[in-house]
Amino acid sequence: MNNSKIVSELEKVVGEKYVSAQPEIQFLYHYDFITAEPEGKCDIAIIPNSAEEVQEIVKIAIKYKIPVVPWVSGINFGSIATPRKGGIVVDLRRLNRIIEVNIDDMYAVIEGGVTWADLKGYLEKKHPNLRAGITWSPPGTGVVPACLCYGMFDLRMLGGSGAEFINGMEVVLGSGDLIKVGSCSLSNYWYGRQPLPDLAGLFLSWEGTTGIVTKMAVKLWPKLPYRTTHLAIGVKMKFGVPAMLKLSKAGLGICDIYFVNLGWFQSIQELNEKDVVKDPIKAKTPDFFGLITTQAYTEKQHKAQCEAIEAICTEKNLKIRPTEET
Ligand SMILES: Cc1cc2nc3c(=O)[nH]c(=O)nc-3n(C[C@H](O)[C@H](O)[C@H](O)COP(=O)(O)OP(=O)(O)OC[C@H]3O[C@@H](n4cnc5c(N)ncnc54)[C@H](O)[C@@H]3O)c2cc1C
Repeated sequence: MNNSKIVSELEKVVGEKYVSAQPEIQFLYHYDFITAEPEGKCDIAIIPNSAEEVQEIVKIAIKYKIPVVPWVSGINFGSIATPRKGGIVVDLRRLNRIIEVNIDDMYAVIEGGVTWADLKGYLEKKHPNLRAGITWSPPGTGVVPACLCYGMFDLRMLGGSGAEFINGMEVVLGSGDLIKVGSCSLSNYWYGRQPLPDLAGLFLSWEGTTGIVTKMAVKLWPKLPYRTTHLAIGVKMKFGVPAMLKLSKAGLGICDIYFVNLGWFQSIQELNEKDVVKDPIKAKTPDFFGLITTQAYTEKQHKAQCEAIEAICTEKNLKIRPTEET
Protein backbone atom coordinates (compact mmCIF):
# COMPACT_ATOMS: atom_id res chain seq x y z
CA MET A 1 0.00 0.00 0.00
CA ASN A 2 1.41 3.38 -1.05
CA ASN A 3 0.74 5.38 2.12
CA SER A 4 2.21 8.66 0.91
CA LYS A 5 -0.06 8.83 -2.14
CA ILE A 6 -3.16 8.11 -0.03
CA VAL A 7 -2.01 10.53 2.67
CA SER A 8 -1.63 13.34 0.18
CA GLU A 9 -5.17 12.71 -1.11
CA LEU A 10 -6.50 12.65 2.44
CA GLU A 11 -4.62 15.87 3.25
CA LYS A 12 -6.63 17.61 0.56
CA VAL A 13 -9.79 16.61 2.45
CA VAL A 14 -8.91 17.46 6.08
CA GLY A 15 -5.71 19.50 5.88
CA GLU A 16 -2.14 18.39 6.58
CA LYS A 17 -2.42 18.78 10.32
CA TYR A 18 -5.19 16.20 10.69
CA VAL A 19 -3.80 13.17 8.89
CA SER A 20 -0.72 11.14 9.68
CA ALA A 21 1.09 7.95 8.77
CA GLN A 22 3.96 8.60 11.18
CA PRO A 23 4.97 5.50 13.18
CA GLU A 24 4.23 7.11 16.56
CA ILE A 25 0.69 8.01 15.42
CA GLN A 26 0.20 4.57 13.84
CA PHE A 27 1.20 3.09 17.20
CA LEU A 28 -1.40 5.12 19.12
CA TYR A 29 -4.23 3.74 16.99
CA HIS A 30 -3.05 0.17 16.37
CA TYR A 31 -4.85 -1.24 19.40
CA ASP A 32 -7.53 -0.13 21.83
CA PHE A 33 -8.26 -0.53 25.54
CA ILE A 34 -8.15 -4.34 25.51
CA THR A 35 -4.98 -5.54 23.81
CA ALA A 36 -5.96 -7.51 20.75
CA GLU A 37 -4.36 -10.84 19.88
CA PRO A 38 -2.98 -10.62 17.28
CA GLU A 39 -2.27 -6.90 17.46
CA GLY A 40 -3.96 -4.52 15.03
CA LYS A 41 -2.31 -2.30 12.46
CA CYS A 42 -3.15 1.33 11.70
CA ASP A 43 -1.65 2.63 8.46
CA ILE A 44 -3.14 6.12 8.54
CA ALA A 45 -4.97 8.08 11.25
CA ILE A 46 -7.22 10.96 10.29
CA ILE A 47 -9.36 13.45 12.20
CA PRO A 48 -12.20 14.87 10.05
CA ASN A 49 -14.30 17.90 10.94
CA SER A 50 -17.58 17.21 9.10
CA ALA A 51 -19.80 14.47 7.69
CA GLU A 52 -18.78 15.56 4.19
CA GLU A 53 -15.12 14.97 5.07
CA VAL A 54 -16.00 11.51 6.42
CA GLN A 55 -17.70 10.79 3.08
CA GLU A 56 -14.59 11.84 1.15
CA ILE A 57 -12.37 9.67 3.38
CA VAL A 58 -14.59 6.63 2.74
CA LYS A 59 -14.51 7.29 -1.02
CA ILE A 60 -10.69 7.38 -0.97
CA ALA A 61 -10.67 4.13 1.02
CA ILE A 62 -12.95 2.55 -1.60
CA LYS A 63 -10.61 3.70 -4.36
CA TYR A 64 -7.61 2.03 -2.69
CA LYS A 65 -9.67 -0.90 -1.30
CA ILE A 66 -8.53 -0.38 2.27
CA PRO A 67 -10.52 -0.75 5.52
CA VAL A 68 -11.85 2.16 7.59
CA VAL A 69 -12.34 1.97 11.36
CA PRO A 70 -14.26 4.72 13.22
CA TRP A 71 -12.93 5.66 16.64
CA VAL A 72 -13.95 7.97 19.48
CA SER A 73 -11.81 7.07 22.48
CA GLY A 74 -10.99 3.37 21.93
CA ILE A 75 -12.06 2.50 25.49
CA ASN A 76 -14.53 -0.25 24.70
CA PHE A 77 -14.40 -3.68 26.37
CA GLY A 78 -14.23 -5.88 23.28
CA SER A 79 -11.24 -4.58 21.33
CA ILE A 80 -13.74 -3.63 18.64
CA ALA A 81 -12.00 -0.39 17.58
CA THR A 82 -8.72 -2.23 16.89
CA PRO A 83 -7.94 -2.06 13.15
CA ARG A 84 -7.41 -5.75 12.38
CA LYS A 85 -6.51 -5.42 8.73
CA GLY A 86 -4.72 -2.10 8.58
CA GLY A 87 -6.11 0.88 6.69
CA ILE A 88 -7.49 4.16 7.99
CA VAL A 89 -8.56 4.88 11.57
CA VAL A 90 -11.04 7.77 11.57
CA ASP A 91 -10.77 9.60 14.89
CA LEU A 92 -14.12 11.39 15.26
CA ARG A 93 -13.24 13.65 18.17
CA ARG A 94 -13.47 16.87 16.15
CA LEU A 95 -17.08 15.98 15.45
CA ASN A 96 -17.88 17.07 18.98
CA ARG A 97 -20.68 19.59 18.45
CA ILE A 98 -24.05 19.53 20.13
CA ILE A 99 -26.16 20.74 17.27
CA GLU A 100 -29.54 21.13 18.88
CA VAL A 101 -31.43 20.52 22.09
CA ASN A 102 -35.18 20.23 21.63
CA ILE A 103 -36.67 20.97 25.04
CA ASP A 104 -40.26 20.14 24.06
CA ASP A 105 -39.53 16.71 22.64
CA MET A 106 -36.53 16.21 24.96
CA TYR A 107 -33.72 15.12 22.68
CA ALA A 108 -30.26 16.36 21.72
CA VAL A 109 -28.81 16.10 18.22
CA ILE A 110 -25.11 15.43 18.63
CA GLU A 111 -22.20 14.67 16.32
CA GLY A 112 -20.54 11.26 16.14
CA GLY A 113 -17.56 12.15 18.35
CA VAL A 114 -19.37 13.85 21.26
CA THR A 115 -18.23 12.47 24.60
CA TRP A 116 -20.26 12.03 27.77
CA ALA A 117 -18.30 14.92 29.29
CA ASP A 118 -19.22 17.15 26.30
CA LEU A 119 -22.91 16.33 26.60
CA LYS A 120 -23.18 16.53 30.39
CA GLY A 121 -21.20 19.78 30.50
CA TYR A 122 -23.36 21.32 27.78
CA LEU A 123 -26.65 20.35 29.44
CA GLU A 124 -25.56 21.51 32.89
CA LYS A 125 -24.67 24.90 31.46
CA LYS A 126 -27.52 25.45 29.01
CA HIS A 127 -30.35 23.14 30.11
CA PRO A 128 -29.97 22.33 33.81
CA ASN A 129 -33.44 20.78 33.97
CA LEU A 130 -32.56 18.16 31.39
CA ARG A 131 -30.12 15.30 31.57
CA ALA A 132 -28.71 12.51 29.48
CA GLY A 133 -27.73 9.11 30.82
CA ILE A 134 -24.58 8.57 32.83
CA THR A 135 -22.38 5.53 32.31
CA TRP A 136 -19.62 4.13 34.47
CA SER A 137 -17.31 4.42 31.51
CA PRO A 138 -14.76 7.26 31.57
CA PRO A 139 -16.18 10.73 30.72
CA GLY A 140 -14.03 10.94 27.59
CA THR A 141 -15.76 7.97 25.94
CA GLY A 142 -18.26 8.51 23.13
CA VAL A 143 -22.03 8.81 23.45
CA VAL A 144 -22.65 7.47 19.92
CA PRO A 145 -20.61 4.24 20.28
CA ALA A 146 -22.26 3.61 23.66
CA CYS A 147 -25.76 3.94 22.18
CA LEU A 148 -24.83 1.82 19.15
CA CYS A 149 -23.61 -1.05 21.34
CA TYR A 150 -26.72 -1.21 23.57
CA GLY A 151 -24.76 0.55 26.35
CA MET A 152 -26.02 0.63 29.91
CA PHE A 153 -26.74 4.04 31.47
CA ASP A 154 -28.19 5.05 34.80
CA LEU A 155 -31.52 5.90 33.15
CA ARG A 156 -31.99 2.39 31.79
CA MET A 157 -34.82 1.75 34.29
CA LEU A 158 -36.75 4.47 32.47
CA GLY A 159 -35.39 4.25 28.97
CA GLY A 160 -33.90 0.82 28.32
CA SER A 161 -30.47 0.23 26.79
CA GLY A 162 -28.52 2.85 24.84
CA ALA A 163 -30.11 1.69 21.59
CA GLU A 164 -33.53 2.72 22.92
CA PHE A 165 -32.14 6.19 23.56
CA ILE A 166 -31.62 6.75 19.82
CA ASN A 167 -34.24 8.88 18.04
CA GLY A 168 -32.49 9.02 14.68
CA MET A 169 -29.16 8.94 12.88
CA GLU A 170 -27.18 10.41 10.03
CA VAL A 171 -24.77 7.80 8.67
CA VAL A 172 -21.99 7.62 6.08
CA LEU A 173 -22.32 4.23 4.39
CA GLY A 174 -19.51 2.08 3.02
CA SER A 175 -20.36 3.52 -0.41
CA GLY A 176 -19.65 7.06 0.84
CA ASP A 177 -23.37 7.97 0.63
CA LEU A 178 -24.93 9.95 3.48
CA ILE A 179 -28.29 8.67 4.73
CA LYS A 180 -30.72 9.48 7.53
CA VAL A 181 -32.74 7.09 9.69
CA GLY A 182 -35.86 8.10 11.65
CA SER A 183 -38.13 11.15 11.56
CA CYS A 184 -35.16 13.33 10.60
CA SER A 185 -35.21 11.68 7.17
CA LEU A 186 -38.62 13.29 6.50
CA SER A 187 -38.51 16.53 8.50
CA ASN A 188 -36.24 18.78 10.53
CA TYR A 189 -37.41 17.08 13.71
CA TRP A 190 -35.51 14.18 15.29
CA TYR A 191 -38.37 13.20 17.59
CA GLY A 192 -38.27 9.43 16.98
CA ARG A 193 -37.54 6.45 14.72
CA GLN A 194 -41.06 6.49 13.25
CA PRO A 195 -42.91 6.66 10.85
CA LEU A 196 -41.03 4.66 8.18
CA PRO A 197 -39.70 1.11 8.69
CA ASP A 198 -37.02 1.36 11.35
CA LEU A 199 -33.61 0.93 9.71
CA ALA A 200 -31.63 1.71 12.87
CA GLY A 201 -30.95 -2.03 13.28
CA LEU A 202 -28.64 -1.87 10.26
CA PHE A 203 -26.21 0.03 12.49
CA LEU A 204 -26.96 -1.21 16.02
CA SER A 205 -24.30 -3.52 17.41
CA TRP A 206 -22.45 -3.58 14.08
CA GLU A 207 -19.67 -1.57 15.73
CA GLY A 208 -19.11 0.75 12.79
CA THR A 209 -18.79 -1.99 10.18
CA THR A 210 -21.99 -0.98 8.34
CA GLY A 211 -21.55 2.78 8.52
CA ILE A 212 -20.06 5.72 10.39
CA VAL A 213 -22.65 7.65 12.39
CA THR A 214 -21.95 11.36 11.96
CA LYS A 215 -25.05 12.62 13.82
CA MET A 216 -27.40 11.04 16.31
CA ALA A 217 -30.44 12.26 18.25
CA VAL A 218 -30.40 10.94 21.80
CA LYS A 219 -33.26 11.10 24.25
CA LEU A 220 -33.02 13.44 27.23
CA TRP A 221 -34.85 13.16 30.53
CA PRO A 222 -36.19 15.66 33.07
CA LYS A 223 -34.00 16.35 36.06
CA LEU A 224 -36.50 16.69 38.91
CA PRO A 225 -35.76 18.96 41.88
CA TYR A 226 -35.81 16.30 44.62
CA ARG A 227 -33.32 13.49 44.24
CA THR A 228 -31.65 11.00 46.57
CA THR A 229 -29.26 8.15 45.94
CA HIS A 230 -29.35 5.34 48.49
CA LEU A 231 -26.15 3.35 48.80
CA ALA A 232 -26.41 -0.30 49.79
CA ILE A 233 -23.20 -1.67 51.18
CA GLY A 234 -21.93 -4.31 53.54
CA VAL A 235 -24.31 -7.14 52.59
CA LYS A 236 -24.22 -10.41 50.71
CA MET A 237 -25.63 -10.90 47.22
CA LYS A 238 -28.35 -13.23 48.55
CA PHE A 239 -29.96 -10.27 50.37
CA GLY A 240 -29.05 -7.57 47.86
CA VAL A 241 -30.36 -9.12 44.64
CA PRO A 242 -33.95 -9.93 45.80
CA ALA A 243 -34.25 -6.44 47.26
CA MET A 244 -33.10 -4.85 44.00
CA LEU A 245 -35.53 -6.99 41.99
CA LYS A 246 -38.44 -5.93 44.20
CA LEU A 247 -37.39 -2.27 44.08
CA SER A 248 -37.07 -2.35 40.31
CA LYS A 249 -40.73 -3.37 39.97
CA ALA A 250 -42.09 -0.94 42.54
CA GLY A 251 -42.03 2.32 40.58
CA LEU A 252 -41.17 4.85 43.29
CA GLY A 253 -39.58 7.36 40.89
CA ILE A 254 -36.48 5.17 40.61
CA CYS A 255 -34.33 6.30 37.70
CA ASP A 256 -31.25 4.22 38.47
CA ILE A 257 -30.78 0.91 40.15
CA TYR A 258 -27.39 -0.62 40.04
CA PHE A 259 -25.41 -3.32 41.76
CA VAL A 260 -22.04 -4.95 41.34
CA ASN A 261 -20.57 -8.21 42.56
CA LEU A 262 -17.46 -8.89 44.56
CA GLY A 263 -14.99 -8.45 41.68
CA TRP A 264 -16.25 -5.04 40.64
CA PHE A 265 -16.70 -4.00 44.24
CA GLN A 266 -13.06 -4.80 44.98
CA SER A 267 -11.91 -2.88 41.90
CA ILE A 268 -13.94 0.14 43.01
CA GLN A 269 -12.24 -0.06 46.42
CA GLU A 270 -8.84 -0.17 44.69
CA LEU A 271 -7.69 -3.03 46.91
CA ASN A 272 -4.23 -4.44 46.41
CA GLU A 273 -3.60 -8.09 45.63
CA LYS A 274 -2.95 -8.98 49.28
CA ASP A 275 -6.37 -7.74 50.45
CA VAL A 276 -8.43 -9.13 47.61
CA VAL A 277 -10.81 -12.00 48.41
CA LYS A 278 -10.06 -14.76 45.92
CA ASP A 279 -13.14 -16.98 46.39
CA PRO A 280 -16.42 -15.04 46.37
CA ILE A 281 -18.49 -18.11 47.36
CA LYS A 282 -16.53 -18.90 50.51
CA ALA A 283 -15.87 -15.28 51.38
CA LYS A 284 -17.57 -14.15 54.56
CA THR A 285 -17.02 -10.53 53.62
CA PRO A 286 -19.78 -8.54 51.88
CA ASP A 287 -19.88 -9.07 48.13
CA PHE A 288 -22.65 -6.69 47.16
CA PHE A 289 -22.58 -2.99 46.40
CA GLY A 290 -25.65 -1.26 45.05
CA LEU A 291 -27.27 2.09 44.53
CA ILE A 292 -30.82 3.23 44.07
CA THR A 293 -31.58 6.73 42.80
CA THR A 294 -35.02 8.22 43.03
CA GLN A 295 -36.34 11.59 41.95
CA ALA A 296 -39.59 13.49 42.41
CA TYR A 297 -41.30 16.73 41.55
CA THR A 298 -42.35 17.71 45.10
CA GLU A 299 -40.73 17.25 48.51
CA LYS A 300 -43.75 15.35 49.84
CA GLN A 301 -43.74 12.94 46.90
CA HIS A 302 -39.99 12.42 47.31
CA LYS A 303 -40.26 11.71 51.05
CA ALA A 304 -42.94 9.08 50.39
CA GLN A 305 -40.81 7.45 47.70
CA CYS A 306 -37.76 7.29 50.00
CA GLU A 307 -39.86 5.80 52.83
CA ALA A 308 -41.19 3.10 50.52
CA ILE A 309 -37.65 2.29 49.30
CA GLU A 310 -36.48 1.98 52.91
CA ALA A 311 -39.45 -0.29 53.75
CA ILE A 312 -38.66 -2.70 50.91
CA CYS A 313 -34.97 -2.80 51.84
CA THR A 314 -35.75 -3.44 55.52
CA GLU A 315 -38.07 -6.29 54.54
CA LYS A 316 -35.27 -7.81 52.44
CA ASN A 317 -32.46 -7.23 54.97
CA LEU A 318 -30.66 -4.73 52.78
CA LYS A 319 -28.98 -1.92 54.68
CA ILE A 320 -29.12 1.39 52.80
CA ARG A 321 -27.72 4.84 53.41
CA PRO A 322 -29.13 7.97 51.68
CA THR A 323 -26.70 10.45 50.13
CA GLU A 324 -27.33 13.83 48.56
CA GLU A 325 -27.45 13.88 44.75
CA THR A 326 -26.74 16.80 42.48
C1 LIG B 1 -14.12 1.37 33.60
C2 LIG B 1 -15.12 1.22 32.49
C3 LIG B 1 -16.48 1.27 32.77
C4 LIG B 1 -17.41 1.13 31.77
N1 LIG B 1 -18.74 1.23 32.10
C5 LIG B 1 -19.67 1.17 31.13
C6 LIG B 1 -21.07 1.38 31.45
O1 LIG B 1 -21.47 1.64 32.59
N2 LIG B 1 -21.95 1.30 30.45
C7 LIG B 1 -21.56 1.04 29.15
O2 LIG B 1 -22.42 1.00 28.28
N3 LIG B 1 -20.26 0.85 28.81
C8 LIG B 1 -19.31 0.92 29.76
N4 LIG B 1 -17.98 0.74 29.45
C9 LIG B 1 -17.62 0.34 28.08
C10 LIG B 1 -17.18 1.49 27.13
O3 LIG B 1 -16.51 2.52 27.78
C11 LIG B 1 -18.33 2.06 26.37
O4 LIG B 1 -18.85 1.03 25.55
C12 LIG B 1 -18.00 3.29 25.53
O5 LIG B 1 -19.18 3.68 24.89
C13 LIG B 1 -16.93 3.10 24.51
O6 LIG B 1 -16.75 4.39 23.91
P1 LIG B 1 -15.49 4.73 23.05
O7 LIG B 1 -15.58 6.18 22.73
O8 LIG B 1 -14.24 4.30 23.74
O9 LIG B 1 -15.77 3.85 21.76
P2 LIG B 1 -14.68 3.25 20.75
O10 LIG B 1 -13.89 2.19 21.43
O11 LIG B 1 -13.93 4.36 20.12
O12 LIG B 1 -15.66 2.60 19.69
C14 LIG B 1 -16.43 1.46 20.04
C15 LIG B 1 -16.95 0.80 18.74
O13 LIG B 1 -17.85 1.68 18.08
C16 LIG B 1 -17.37 2.02 16.77
N5 LIG B 1 -17.69 3.43 16.59
C17 LIG B 1 -17.18 4.50 17.26
N6 LIG B 1 -17.74 5.63 16.85
C18 LIG B 1 -18.63 5.29 15.88
C19 LIG B 1 -19.52 6.04 15.06
N7 LIG B 1 -19.64 7.35 15.16
N8 LIG B 1 -20.26 5.36 14.14
C20 LIG B 1 -20.19 4.02 14.03
N9 LIG B 1 -19.38 3.26 14.80
C21 LIG B 1 -18.61 3.89 15.71
C22 LIG B 1 -15.88 1.70 16.79
O14 LIG B 1 -15.39 1.38 15.51
C23 LIG B 1 -15.83 0.50 17.73
O15 LIG B 1 -16.17 -0.66 17.03
C24 LIG B 1 -17.01 0.90 30.44
C25 LIG B 1 -15.63 0.87 30.12
C26 LIG B 1 -14.70 1.04 31.14
C27 LIG B 1 -13.26 1.01 30.78
